Amino acid sequence: MPNSAVDTRPVRVRFAPSPTGDLHVGNIRTALFDWAYARHTGGTFIFRIEDTDKDRVTDEYIQAAIDTLKWLGLTWDEGPEVGGPNGPYLQSQRMDIYADWAKKFLDDGFAYHCYCSADELEAVREAQRKANVAPGYNGHCRSLSTEQIAAFVADGRKPVVRMRMPDGSTTFTDLIRGEVTFDHNFVPDFVLVRADGSPLYTLAVAVDDVMMKVTHVLRGEDLLSSTPRQIRVYQAMGVAEADYPLFAHLPFVMGQDNAKLSKRNGEVSIAWYRERGFLPEAICNYLALLGWSPGEDREDVSMSELTELFTVERVHSSPARFDMKKLEAINGDKIRALSPDEFLNRSLPFLKEGNVVTGTPEEIALLKRALPIIQERVATLAEVPAMLKFLFVTNFEVEAESLSKISDADSKKLLQVAYERLQSLSQWNHEGIEAVLRTALIEEMGLKPRIAFSAVRIAVTGSHISPPLFESMELLGRESSLLRLNNSI
Ligand code: GLU
Repeated sequence: MPNSAVDTRPVRVRFAPSPTGDLHVGNIRTALFDWAYARHTGGTFIFRIEDTDKDRVTDEYIQAAIDTLKWLGLTWDEGPEVGGPNGPYLQSQRMDIYADWAKKFLDDGFAYHCYCSADELEAVREAQRKANVAPGYNGHCRSLSTEQIAAFVADGRKPVVRMRMPDGSTTFTDLIRGEVTFDHNFVPDFVLVRADGSPLYTLAVAVDDVMMKVTHVLRGEDLLSSTPRQIRVYQAMGVAEADYPLFAHLPFVMGQDNAKLSKRNGEVSIAWYRERGFLPEAICNYLALLGWSPGEDREDVSMSELTELFTVERVHSSPARFDMKKLEAINGDKIRALSPDEFLNRSLPFLKEGNVVTGTPEEIALLKRALPIIQERVATLAEVPAMLKFLFVTNFEVEAESLSKISDADSKKLLQVAYERLQSLSQWNHEGIEAVLRTALIEEMGLKPRIAFSAVRIAVTGSHISPPLFESMELLGRESSLLRLNNSI
């Protein structure tokens, strides 16, 4: 294996997802670390699409993967759309390359044709289960005679190509885990090419990592056990040990319940977070903390700090736990850090999608006044439409749930007083509105502020959750505010 301490190769890192669904938290954490490592070292970040599984990969998922990386700002130096000297970067366009290597492995004796049927393999597995021995191919077709092969062919059997694992073991140094050894008793001969000629992951990934001159494979821990098989493919390709990639297997990302987060769970898909108004910089900041830390208990990391500080040595080997509350808190921080214009630009798609505004100049002008008063108060952009809807609705209605809170006689009385006293307010601004309501409702009527202002809030905004009341009324204007108060009475 190359020795990391003296490895002088220019760094080349790849992110190689299999788009059989939307990219999820675990994929993106890997992509982020790959990207950060490449940027930190001044190396090359390669984006490769592992789309050999025709039944499960779709063009939509491939496009979504590309869009997600772009949205997050994880730009790549070689890969789809940008090309590069080692392409194509979609495995489905590299099928001939895999077929050529498989043929060479057969010719050189590293691999062999295996004619075992699915039933026969199942019978072997069953026997192994009964005998309580490690499961795996039993080597039945390793050394078939010419007559046996002829008989299988005559029988119409189509062979798979299987890699011959030698006796012994494979040892490599994982940059996170240290020295790892796999005894080949637990690494049985594995399939490289299916009977229909399609390559398996282990063949394609290893061939591509070599041909794309990848120096560092940073990927999820779930792939640790495939490493000895990939190293066997390098050996069959005749790659010198010093040219193997170095491996770093990133710790698992667990759910809150300590079960492994998985692709099959919709809530882990990055698209889900995007739709709910999480900012890409918040997602990257939060995911950076899943298994890595910038030190000093810091939780606020910008993309430029990440590329500056990221080293594999700082990646932990213990599993990281996904914490939604923390992600929300970071998202709120990143929203507060946006400039007013940026907050407007990012909120606008959500306001349009929620049918709150269409984007007319009048609406934009009002939004420019309204957004600053809620910027401190939202954790996600998806909360913005509900907060500001009251300013734009034409047929205003109080939410049913809130209506019940102001339908008693006491509320009616206080709304009546509020309406009358506000009518004579000369300057319609939040200071004036607050002074009038405090005098009339709190001082003179002796009401608790929470009760009094909540009733006014519901009457004017239609909901018991809104931006600050007096500012909201100023923005809404005298006419609409008084009309709504009067209607609610
Ligand atoms: N395509 C593989 C996957 O998405 C990962 C390949 C690798 O990183 O080695 O699971």
